[in-house]
Amino acid sequence: MSENKAHQTGPDLQQGVPLSGLREGEPLAGHVGDSQVLLVKRGARVFAIGAICPHYSGPLAEGIVVGNTVRCPWHHSRFNLATGDAMCAPALNAVLAWKTEVRDGKVFLTGSERQPARPRLSGRGLPGRVVIVGAGAAGNAAAETLRKEGFEGEVTLIGAEPSVPYDRPNLSKDYLAGNAPEEWVPLRTEEFYQREDITLMKGVEVTSLDAKARKVGLHDGKEVRYDALLLATGASPVRLSMPGSDLEHVSTLRTLADSRAIIEQTKRARRAVIMGASFIGLEVAASLRARQMEVHIIAPEALPLERVMGPEIGRFIQGLHEEHGVVFHLGHTARSITRESVTLDDGTGVAADLVVMGVGVRPNLALAEKSGIATGRGVIVNEYLRTDAPGVYAAGDIARWPDPHTGERIRVEHWVVAERQGQTAARNMLNMAERFTAVPFFWSAHYDATISYVGHAEKWDRVRVDGSLQGQDCQVDFLLGGHRLAVATIGRDRNSLQVEAEMEAAVV
Ligand code: FAD
Repeated sequence: MSENKAHQTGPDLQQGVPLSGLREGEPLAGHVGDSQVLLVKRGARVFAIGAICPHYSGPLAEGIVVGNTVRCPWHHSRFNLATGDAMCAPALNAVLAWKTEVRDGKVFLTGSERQPARPRLSGRGLPGRVVIVGAGAAGNAAAETLRKEGFEGEVTLIGAEPSVPYDRPNLSKDYLAGNAPEEWVPLRTEEFYQREDITLMKGVEVTSLDAKARKVGLHDGKEVRYDALLLATGASPVRLSMPGSDLEHVSTLRTLADSRAIIEQTKRARRAVIMGASFIGLEVAASLRARQMEVHIIAPEALPLERVMGPEIGRFIQGLHEEHGVVFHLGHTARSITRESVTLDDGTGVAADLVVMGVGVRPNLALAEKSGIATGRGVIVNEYLRTDAPGVYAAGDIARWPDPHTGERIRVEHWVVAERQGQTAARNMLNMAERFTAVPFFWSAHYDATISYVGHAEKWDRVRVDGSLQGQDCQVDFLLGGHRLAVATIGRDRNSLQVEAEMEAAVV
């Protein structure tokens, strides 16, 4: 996606803007020709960087400044104000940094900064060969980070899927709805991996791990040796077993191939049943409504998302989907499936020629378990994302790490967390001793409403709602014993960033 080019907004920065018009730490958006540029005053310095987040084109001027970084309001990417460097996922590319000059009380842009040269890392104690198992969010971020940090040894990224790493969250959203073309889905091109000297093995399954001999075995019998290994195998969707669950029109959604297969089916199917009112189930419902399909959701709970988001957001989400024509069968499970319908536990039949199961995932722990690495509802890692096997790290959906914000060991299934863990694990392979302290963040999109969630609350004793859910302008706090564990926002992206920064500051 384009990084910087957009229609011109704000002042022309080549003509200069009064220094007195800049408020400390408050971004100001302007332009230079076609490029959108952000100005930020920090003490005696004025920084200027590209104003559009390269991840999803989020407007950085609507984000917040923390220290010498600006944070994107949409998905919380972070950029270094001095260099434009993308410091934290989900953005993987830098924005352009500009030189500024103050003359006669006005700030002018005088040209773009040269990108700093990549460091060259060498020295004793660095691994010679890094192997990454799983080419998803965490695995890709780790591979990229190794190179970005200047690692010059071998990097091998092994993925069971046939494609380059891609934007998994889009599979249930715009891509499935038909609003995002296929070319938006890959994170990188084949050439990128060649250029970065990353050996990407696609369609290759790692079937064994010998942590003592430091080698992994592949499905074709070959072996790959490592000095440092990252396990980033993600999760697999749960498939409910019932009569008819293996019929061709019954799918789960985890991979690009799954999403493509569902899209293919929508060419013929008219009525969809979604099993499970999970985030993915609900996003699929919204996307299939965008394709004008009739959509029914069957789920055992009384309100969608209530267990993770509480009844207030649950009711709002249900109402929002109902306004868009989705029919809920809550308090029910499915008993069987035929080519034409799904039968509920009370015998009711719901016509369906497409069925999608969105009933949760299980982390892919088999490799770790078989090799004797400590597991327990996830792969157990320390604050550096190291497992108990020498040289072996784990990141993403499989990792259960000590979260300093809750004081508990947690495992989450969030895109940004997976990428940030991949980044931290990579740096720790390079002896950088970086603790993983990021505040968990995820988002979920339904029609025109996006829920942003920071923190982690498995249980709470109070929900505090500020603002209006219906008006899509609210902040919902989840508290336990008076302590705020997590915050969901709709239409208040800056609040979400502020809360994240506050939670972060509380543990550093
Ligand atoms: P993955 O991205 O799943 O990557 C793991 C990879 O490892 C897979 O490609 C898998 O094939 C491969 N693999 C597994 N075992 C092996 C093996 N033995 N050998 C070789 N390769 C192997 N999160 C959000 O925060 N916001 C969202 O809006 C959102 N939407 C989502 C929508 C969908 C449809 C899905 C499926 C997930 C969504 N998520 C979202 C969750 C997010 O995508 C995951 O948390 C994230 O992808 C986890 O990253 P990961 O690297 O741990 O695993």
